[in-house]
Amino acid sequence: MSEETPDISDPPGRGPAAFGWLHHFVTALELAPAVAVHSMDRAGVIRFWNHASEQLYGIPAATAVGQPYRQLVQHIERQDEFEAAIANIWNTGLAPPALDWQVQSSAGRRHWVYSCHYPIKHDGVMQEVFCMEVDITARKEAESNLQQAAQVFQNARDAIIMMDAEYRVRAVNGAFTGITGHTPEQIVGRPLASLGWDADDGFYERIWAELDGKDHWEGELAGVRRDGQRYPVRIALTAIRDPHGDVSSYMAMLSDISERKRAEAQVRHQAEHDALTGLPNRILFLDRLHQALATWRRQHEQFAVMFLDLDKFKAVNDTHGHQAGDIVLREVAGRLRGCVRAVDTISRLGGDEFVVLLADIKGADQAAHVASAVTQAVARPVDIGGQALTLSTSIGIALCPDDGDEVETLLHHADLAMYHAKQEGRDTFRFFSPAMNAHVVERVELENRLRQALDGGEFVLEYQPEIEVASGRVTAVEALLRWRHPERGLLLPHDFLPAAEASGLIVPIGEWVLREACRQARAWQDAGHPVAVAVNLSDAQLAHDGLLPAVDAALATASLAPQSLDLEIPEDALIRSEAAFAATAQALRARGVQLSVDRFGTGLSSLEALRRFPLTKLKIDRSYVGDTGHDPVDAAMVPAIIAVARSLRLRVVGEGVETPDQLDFLRRHGCDDYQGFLASAASAEPDLAPHPG
Ligand code: GH3
Ligand code: MG
Repeated sequence: MSEETPDISDPPGRGPAAFGWLHHFVTALELAPAVAVHSMDRAGVIRFWNHASEQLYGIPAATAVGQPYRQLVQHIERQDEFEAAIANIWNTGLAPPALDWQVQSSAGRRHWVYSCHYPIKHDGVMQEVFCMEVDITARKEAESNLQQAAQVFQNARDAIIMMDAEYRVRAVNGAFTGITGHTPEQIVGRPLASLGWDADDGFYERIWAELDGKDHWEGELAGVRRDGQRYPVRIALTAIRDPHGDVSSYMAMLSDISERKRAEAQVRHQAEHDALTGLPNRILFLDRLHQALATWRRQHEQFAVMFLDLDKFKAVNDTHGHQAGDIVLREVAGRLRGCVRAVDTISRLGGDEFVVLLADIKGADQAAHVASAVTQAVARPVDIGGQALTLSTSIGIALCPDDGDEVETLLHHADLAMYHAKQEGRDTFRFFSPAMNAHVVERVELENRLRQALDGGEFVLEYQPEIEVASGRVTAVEALLRWRHPERGLLLPHDFLPAAEASGLIVPIGEWVLREACRQARAWQDAGHPVAVAVNLSDAQLAHDGLLPAVDAALATASLAPQSLDLEIPEDALIRSEAAFAATAQALRARGVQLSVDRFGTGLSSLEALRRFPLTKLKIDRSYVGDTGHDPVDAAMVPAIIAVARSLRLRVVGEGVETPDQLDFLRRHGCDDYQGFLASAASAEPDLAPHPG
């Protein structure tokens, strides 16, 4: 703001007579150490130039005085503004407000100055413009540094957190919210620890201790964003000390290193994986194998190394080109993945050679199952641009610890076993140990044969009638599974069911039985024999989700009434599968399907357990029926079982009736139906005509 200045011809409180004060004043100005003082006349010519001006501008008074000011001093960037301010003083006689200017002298000095200009009047007439200046360069530089620091703080890509000496947050920069998800208001005033960190309890104490000792701590940590998301973060903490050496504040810099971690992970992935198939490469495989050995030494978990080499793969390349070969390799890799669990490791060693680490296996059988699944998976045709290609593979298996407990030995033995598989005709697998081979190969061959039998229609059903004691009428027929083996003839269930159960094949075989039995029952009904058909269920089927849909499908396909299907469940299986089967049993009964408990008396069921199932029929085991003539205990059991069936409101059937006496015994004790050689053995074409007792 401009203001009026006193006229020097009339100093306050004195009069023109006291003019001598001006001399003293000028002397003081001349010598004032820090204040540059100069004056110029209307033409801008320097009239006065004190010692401090000489120092500031590097121009002696002898040179300056008499020179135009504008030739001595340039106002950087704001020369016009300065000229206008001076002109305004001459025009108005008023002092302008003090201002900061950046100036450069003809002697080459550059400064920031704080300048006050005053008009000097004599007898009311403007004489000179008087200027007092202080060098403020140091302050300006400090200000500019501060400003730069503030800009760095605000615009840094890393989050910067300023804290007081008690680690309470005082200020955060712009990047802070982007990285942590917290706004400044949510954190300022609170301790740094209240930002989410995935750190244990003593973590902060350890950091603070180190920070106190070294004034710096740096490390990586898992941060937790406000929305709960975790992110890797690098933190640098620095203690800031005041001039007395006391910590006045702390600064934390947080960098989100997710991107770097991702890049590192990608580089690591590339170094450890095969580019063609994406499978782990030899390096990663050997690492996993070392780990598996370490685990085995600690916990004695067996594992297997399975070596695979495609058969005649060169021919694929030669006939269809390398690209087709690559498609095949990728496809095989995908199929291998489908054959193993997540804990197993599949690796491509190179060429058409793969190796699988089967972790924590229970024995050779389990390894054989995987090998056989792999063999079948590889055997499915591969589509190479519209053309189907059929492949096979040879597999060698070494088990730890039986076949070795060193990386090299295991790999070598699996490789040797694979070589034997090639030698013995390819498209097969071999264990390193001959004993293991004999046992497992036989077992797996049986399973493979069962699969072929199912696909090739080698299973057949025979039927044994159930006859009403009172009327001799055939009320139902029990379907019994047989395998018409091309070389071994007709096989009974005990020859092949254990293998079918162990391999899980029992489920698809059981479904085939349901379909076939329903179809046959319908055919008999159409031919005028109103019989129901009984089908036996195994443990695996009872616990299988697919049972209900399979029953529905079989009934629907055959257009058979549910009441004409009777599912027989052995007493012990019923008790074992109680929990898994309960809901399915209710659903079956709700449809009208009959449920029988088979071989009653051989299990340990309680009446209470039986009562829980919605059963319709109870079949007395043949061992009781057969002994009715000789064993008084068994002879007493049959009436007791019949009484149980009555109390549960179940129809009761005697199994294994071979003689008229046995039938007579059952009749006397009120048994409803019977089954056995006396009436008919099982046959593909049972006699459905009435059997007069
Ligand atoms: P064998 O039953 O004895 O194993 O016969 P093979 O023809 O499969 O012979 P071998 O396993 O020794 O040959 C593997 C071939 O795999 C040799 C090479 O031409 C081919 N091969 C190696 N690497 C690649 C690849 O990355 N892509 C393709 N398409 N082929 C490859
Ligand atoms: Mg090969």
